[in-house]
Amino acid sequence: MDALLAAPATAPLLERWARDRVVDALRRAQEEVRARIGAGEVPDRLEDPDAYVETALELLAGADVPSLKAVINAAGVVLHTNLGRAPLAPAALEAMRRAGRGYANLEFDLPEGRRGSRYAHCVSLLTELTGAADALVVNNNAAALVLALNTVALGRPVVVSRGELVEIGGGFRIPEILERSGVRLLEVGSTNRTRLSDYRQALEEHDDVAAVLKVHRSNFRISGFTEEASLEELAGLAGGFDVPLLHDLGSGLFVAPDRLGLPEEPRAAEALSAGADLVAVSGDKLLGGPQAGLLVGREELVSALRANPLCRALRVGKVTLAGLEATLRLHRDPDAAIRGIPALAMLAARPGELEERARSLAARLVAAGVEVEVLPGTGAVGGGTYPGLELPDWTVRVTASGGTEALARALRTGSPPVVGRIEEGRVVLSLRTVLPDEEDALVARVAEAAGTET
Ligand SMILES: *Cc1c(COP(=O)(O)O)cnc(C)c1O
Repeated sequence: MDALLAAPATAPLLERWARDRVVDALRRAQEEVRARIGAGEVPDRLEDPDAYVETALELLAGADVPSLKAVINAAGVVLHTNLGRAPLAPAALEAMRRAGRGYANLEFDLPEGRRGSRYAHCVSLLTELTGAADALVVNNNAAALVLALNTVALGRPVVVSRGELVEIGGGFRIPEILERSGVRLLEVGSTNRTRLSDYRQALEEHDDVAAVLKVHRSNFRISGFTEEASLEELAGLAGGFDVPLLHDLGSGLFVAPDRLGLPEEPRAAEALSAGADLVAVSGDKLLGGPQAGLLVGREELVSALRANPLCRALRVGKVTLAGLEATLRLHRDPDAAIRGIPALAMLAARPGELEERARSLAARLVAAGVEVEVLPGTGAVGGGTYPGLELPDWTVRVTASGGTEALARALRTGSPPVVGRIEEGRVVLSLRTVLPDEEDALVARVAEAAGTET
């Protein structure tokens, strides 16, 4: 070890990493050689210190690669939950950088010079955009739902339709969330049909019901012989029994869906006008902002949420609030939102535009010696929204001599990683979800992974 530490090749390592880490890496390099000898091998550079230093350098450099990497999403799924959902607007990133770089008035009232509330940020934008009386931002929509249930109905029954006891994804199951929030599940109706009278019966039979909950089915659709009570009907009923109507809306769409070429999808403002008392949505789905859960609704309910000790455990930090505020501000003007929020711009992209981008990418790949084909395809909105909806798309299909699986793996494991789709034995790249400034890197990565890099 002394000889290895004194070797000239080790000096740059000692400059870059703490001595203990270098010693540890050199020790692991030695152990590797011992293990090979133990297995009957005869390593050829057994007495060459540089061989151990090279291994140590690889180990040290490998440990410095961040676990969380920026990825090029060429899968054509806009709110790809596994890839971090919404890419953020430049305005949001700038606000997050500003808030995170130094200090911020997170909990400080600047005019008064005393302690303020972190819960004050974003409230006026959220009430302006949704028409709600008050609003609260928490960690995500799951947290929003837990907080709402725990605040409004701890130890008491909450009426929910059997058709809405869904799993949203990642093991997020509505019945389990209700239970863990400390409320009792009072199921009504059947999987495909729940009538207003089913809710009424439950409210009549149980005088301790604390709330009625309506859940957006999100990633799941039922069709055929179905029936459900509308939000308006439920609001009328719940109001008559003097219990609040909670609505887990999920997707967080704030612009009119036809502006994005998407079918009708309920929005928080509409849910509130329909009579919901408290609505919960995600910040990083169709709102296109950072991960957050937004609760909007009646003043006394939102005040009660803020007063719940759980709220402290579910709160968000200054960087999230800054990004969310900038995203919400863009939403004041739907045109600015669609232009400035990448997820919305991607959804609004027209097929002609996507075809043009696909053809230009294909031409660049062909020039780099890659075998490709441009074909129409389909993408998805993702994030558990718009289940079954196929977004018309244009794709570049790549053929590599080494095989599809090897190509896809090479794309995923290089830097930056590229995630595409595999369809009919080809790697398929969609440009809808590729940011314009990522195209050069995409060309280079595909050429490299397909083995045609010159
Ligand atoms: C997505 C979704 C959730 C979970 O939201 P997160 O922000 O991912 O926690 C909860 N409820 C509904 C209806 C959803 O669509």
